[in-house]
Amino acid sequence: MTKSFQLVAGHPALDLINTLDWRFRESGPEELINSYEDLLRFAEQTGLLSPRQARTLRRKESNGAARVLQQAKDLRESASQVVYATLDEMEPAVESVLKLDRFMHTAQANRALRWSAKKIRMAWPAEDDPALPLWLLSQATADLLTSDNAASIRACANLECRWLFLDLSKNHMRRWCDMKICGNRTKARRFREQHGAR
Ligand SMILES: [Zn+2]
Repeated sequence: MTKSFQLVAGHPALDLINTLDWRFRESGPEELINSYEDLLRFAEQTGLLSPRQARTLRRKESNGAARVLQQAKDLRESASQVVYATLDEMEPAVESVLKLDRFMHTAQANRALRWSAKKIRMAWPAEDDPALPLWLLSQATADLLTSDNAASIRACANLECRWLFLDLSKNHMRRWCDMKICGNRTKARRFREQHGAR
């Protein structure tokens, strides 16, 4: 059985950043997206890709897939740098902002206006292109970071976790990614470290 992603962030752009798990831990992070298939599964679970689109891309053997996977991680790391710098009240690296800009431009070059179901809609005409999940994530990232909601991005108070989420609660009191998930993740990791390392 394939594992589900734990989507706690309330926005796919933040859930993407959380897929490099334990990002700030001394012994190094844990990668949750290890293949193009993982990327498709993530994009489908977050609702960015429809099940039909995901099926099409899964069926299509593509030699561009490895490159898309690498770019998606590059997008993720640039977004991560910008978001955590902002949370820490620091300037993000110029290079990170430039990379996000390039990803957004590529995504927008692949968007188009189409007439469908009685109105003009934004569409992705090349929806069988292996880069579709990358374009969707690039667009979602640019949309979030430039929106008013960007001010509601928070990091989990567990310093080993620091998973990101949108705190849209009225009093902005949410401190944890998810009390249950966070506690269990910490416990499971400690267990692995204690029993796997020796
Ligand atoms: Zn947490």
